[in-house]
Amino acid sequence: MSEAIIVNCPNCKKEVVWGPESPYRPFCSKRCQLIDLGEWAAEEKRIASQSDLSDSEAWSEPEDSSPY
Ligand SMILES: [Zn+2]
Repeated sequence: MSEAIIVNCPNCKKEVVWGPESPYRPFCSKRCQLIDLGEWAAEEKRIASQSDLSDSEAWSEPEDSSPY
């Protein structure tokens, strides 16, 4: 009893196995999911601007460098 359920990706109509191996079901990939949600452009922008981030924001003081 292990009949695979196959669905078609709403974006590109590719066959997608309905199971744990398809985390983006019913989409075939994250890319198709984003395109369908209309967030594909937003995601592209976020990736492009990541290299622009300053590292001073994430900086934290090392705890074991006290003057004592
Ligand atoms: Zn797809």
